[in-house]
Amino acid sequence: MIETEILIAGYGPVGETLAALLGKAGINTLVVERDLDVYRYPRAAHFDHEIMRIWQKLGIAEAVLPWTRQMYEYEFRNAAGDILLRFDQRGIEAPSGWAPSYMFHQPALEEALRKRVEDFPTVEVRLGTTLKSIDRNDANGIAATISADGKDEQVCARFLIGCDGGGSLTRRQIDGELFDYGFDEPWLVIDTLAKHEEGLPPFGVQSCDPKRPTTVMPMSPLRRRWEFMLKPDETPDTMLDDGKIAELLKPWVKPGQVELVRKAVYRFHGLVAKTWRNKSVLLAGDSAHQMPPFMGQGMCSGIRDADNLAWKLEAVLRGRANAALLDTYQQEREPQVRQIIEGAIAMGRIVCVQDEQAARMRDQGMIAARAAKPAGANDPLPGLPGVRAGFLHPSPRTGELLPQTTAARTADGKHGKLDDILGDGFWLLTKQATTTLSHVKLVVLGHDVTDETGRLDKWLDDAGASAALIRPDRYVFGTGNPDELTTALTVALHIPA
Ligand SMILES: Cc1cc2nc3c(=O)[nH]c(=O)nc-3n(C[C@H](O)[C@H](O)[C@H](O)COP(=O)(O)OP(=O)(O)OC[C@H]3O[C@@H](n4cnc5c(N)ncnc54)[C@H](O)[C@@H]3O)c2cc1C
Repeated sequence: MIETEILIAGYGPVGETLAALLGKAGINTLVVERDLDVYRYPRAAHFDHEIMRIWQKLGIAEAVLPWTRQMYEYEFRNAAGDILLRFDQRGIEAPSGWAPSYMFHQPALEEALRKRVEDFPTVEVRLGTTLKSIDRNDANGIAATISADGKDEQVCARFLIGCDGGGSLTRRQIDGELFDYGFDEPWLVIDTLAKHEEGLPPFGVQSCDPKRPTTVMPMSPLRRRWEFMLKPDETPDTMLDDGKIAELLKPWVKPGQVELVRKAVYRFHGLVAKTWRNKSVLLAGDSAHQMPPFMGQGMCSGIRDADNLAWKLEAVLRGRANAALLDTYQQEREPQVRQIIEGAIAMGRIVCVQDEQAARMRDQGMIAARAAKPAGANDPLPGLPGVRAGFLHPSPRTGELLPQTTAARTADGKHGKLDDILGDGFWLLTKQATTTLSHVKLVVLGHDVTDETGRLDKWLDDAGASAALIRPDRYVFGTGNPDELTTALTVALHIPA
């Protein structure tokens, strides 16, 4: 029998991120993944600034960057090419200290994550190993059966985290009920590799042509994602035919310009698990929620789950918090996830119109609405919804992401991004020397760290507070005076069971 602190089922991007975060915290973790290698074909094509900040924390941002390109524009066009909706993130300063949006190559990202996990001796990864059943789940931990090459083994762990994707066995073994938004559309998804970029759409386009709703997205350099909605009389088999694919690509590329590298038919839907924690079992990523890809946020949401969960698991396992802290995980993550799913479905409902008359009415309404709106920067993820309820101390700026300055300087001459300079854990940012808790790093602005842009000082001044307590996931626990904040943190960490 294997004993460990955490068992992770599933080693997709969410399981990989969680394993790396737990490994960095020195937590004994066993990961089981039924496949033998990284899934070679990307599903996700986009991630946002907050996700890059998490890669930064894990030390893989530099390895990921060559496989990305920044993308600022995203247009919805009608059949005639008129713009119905246009997002432009140019000039938008994302709070995380990175570009607002990146297009990327998922297998390269997953390889960088897996390589990073190898650096952590407390994490063991077993590929070709399946979570078969959860045999016990109570307040003290779990017992599960895993299986490899037809051989079963028992695992006992304090917590099991199901990162096992949309069909999650973990979810089915606990209270597997899903809330269904009733959006369910079949699309052909293909990826291509081009010899050169000339003539290819340089940014994201949703072609809202009722004859064939189509998405075109740049991915990493030379790679593009194309998505074609199926008509009611079309089947996956007919759509996956190479001749059919060539016909669909004809309006977009010159003959021979791109090579087809993958093809698949997906059903896009919006689903949220009703229960994300059942005693010692928790769900993260697609096992907890699935969404249509129109906002490029499915994987991003799962990565946020991992970042939210990792420090809470660490606090509970190291005896710094009551296990009830883990109930704040769903309280914090579900409202944000739902808001994003609802946004993605709203975008999907614009795109997925196949009736000509309904499309004409949609176009008229959207063109008029656009004409009435002032031009300027327009963000599809307007300041990503923060954390509204959960592990928080209500005060100005609570639940927001702390802006990361890229020009932080320490008294001993270190210079760079704030998170790199301050490291992991809780921070108490303040303007005056004070005392703090042993597990909270005291950061006196202007003494320990100076933000050369002045943005951080202004941010604190605007909150009308002398201090801000920042959580390990860089969300603001609260603002106020240092004593009030450390007392509130102590009380919050000992939430009664
Ligand atoms: C066409 C398309 C486009 C998308 N575009 C974007 C985008 O641009 N941006 C974005 O953020 N998201 C996007 N997404 C969503 C994104 O791909 C998913 O949200 C993301 O892959 C979920 O990651 P995960 O780790 O939770 O699950 P998965 O990637 O599904 O990984 C789950 C893993 O668990 C393993 N597993 C399953 N059962 C078991 C078991 N019993 N035992 C052991 N292992 C098991 C599986 O083999 C798999 O490796 C898109 C999705 C699609 C389909």
